[in-house]
Amino acid sequence: MRQSLSLFNTLTRRVEPVAPISEGQISLYTCGPTVYNFAHIGNLRTFLFQDLLKRAFRAAGYDVRHCMNITDVEDKIIRDSQGALAAGASNEERHAAMKALTDRFTTIFLEDLDNLRIQRADHLPKATDYIPQMIRLVQDLEVKGLAYAREGSVYYRIAGLPQYGCLAHLDREGMQAGASVDADEYERDSVTDFVLWKSAKPGEPWWDSPWGHGRPGWHIECSAMGMELLGDRVDIHSGGVDLIFPHHENEIAQSEGCLGHRWVNHWVHGEFLMVEGQKMAKSLGNFFTLRDLVAKGVDPIALRYAIQSNHYRKVLNFSFEGLRAAENSLKRIRAFRKRMEGEGQTGGGPWAEALDPKARLDQARLAFGSALADDLNTPEALAAIFTLISDLNAQDDHVALTREERDAVLAFLDETDAVFAAWPHETASLDTEVEALIEARRAAKGGKNWAEADRVRDQLKALGIVLEDRKDGTTGWRRF
Ligand SMILES: [Zn+2]
Repeated sequence: MRQSLSLFNTLTRRVEPVAPISEGQISLYTCGPTVYNFAHIGNLRTFLFQDLLKRAFRAAGYDVRHCMNITDVEDKIIRDSQGALAAGASNEERHAAMKALTDRFTTIFLEDLDNLRIQRADHLPKATDYIPQMIRLVQDLEVKGLAYAREGSVYYRIAGLPQYGCLAHLDREGMQAGASVDADEYERDSVTDFVLWKSAKPGEPWWDSPWGHGRPGWHIECSAMGMELLGDRVDIHSGGVDLIFPHHENEIAQSEGCLGHRWVNHWVHGEFLMVEGQKMAKSLGNFFTLRDLVAKGVDPIALRYAIQSNHYRKVLNFSFEGLRAAENSLKRIRAFRKRMEGEGQTGGGPWAEALDPKARLDQARLAFGSALADDLNTPEALAAIFTLISDLNAQDDHVALTREERDAVLAFLDETDAVFAAWPHETASLDTEVEALIEARRAAKGGKNWAEADRVRDQLKALGIVLEDRKDGTTGWRRF
């Protein structure tokens, strides 16, 4: 039985169950990076929240098909990639310079995701690979009377779409019909017709189009790639709150204007990140990329935990003190895992408050699942884990949990790690430790130091390892 998950829907301003369009499947579109610079931790907060969202659905038994675009043509990319070129550079040279910049930062971005254990999207389309789809979409909007060309650029006629403003809850009275902007980003108080296709200015890379040399606007990129790869109806579309207006409002206008029906059912937005109580800004010296933090000795997984332990719809105040608290919480969970992987020590004697470990585990599993199902309430989900740790550590101090009970707890830790990706079973380090002990035992046997060989064997046994001496003289091992 699949658990139903509810999420806050920006469209309706309510927490609503996500009812998949296709039974058991979730299509998820998340706006990806504009690859002209390093992602900062505010950007990464959004990607971490979306990773948790995806993992929560997978853990609840859904098939998730995830599309995250890579924006590799956009105003800032052009600004940063064309400066070194001569005024007379060819279009090919301009494209090559743009690609060199975006390839570099795409690689860096994907490395950042890997270091944070963010699962790759199933589709990672680059905008420049979908120019024909964008042109067709703009043409379609023209045919429907929702777009008009002016001096080689094409604009969306917002007055033509009754639902324009539905996501950002705009006051339609305040809209400036007929006024148009060329910029991709603008403020909510200047609601105007927005650009779909931009005519090329001197010194910019361009593509051929029915309107002459030009390039796509930012908003049309996501509509075209999302519809091409996920289809005409999408379950969830997500981004940071800064994308609600104008980006997502404009995506709705483009896609629904073309389709004539609702495109996305659930719009889900993650809140901002502040640093030590202030807005992050390069001028304040509190602007961090993942690399900046790693250079300061921060473990990316501690950052992952620090971010995910806060609810995604609350402004997160990032601080180094918070990071230390995250490290301590992780240590506690990992130490508990290690304890459950080993054998308990009896000797505490009978305990008056003995509890039923299985009942406590069932409670924790239920609380964990319910918390995530309720708009990804990660603080409560983690609280369920810590309650279990306190209860079972206290019990284990007095009456050692059985192997079966320990394994049941380990299974729960695996389930929860599938969502938080921060306390995996550490095979690599265990393997190294085991291999080193096996080598020490072999050396002891070689020197006929039988007492030492036996001592190492017992040490391995304490780690839950059984040795198997093979006929060919080598030693294998397995966990018991
Ligand atoms: Zn987008």
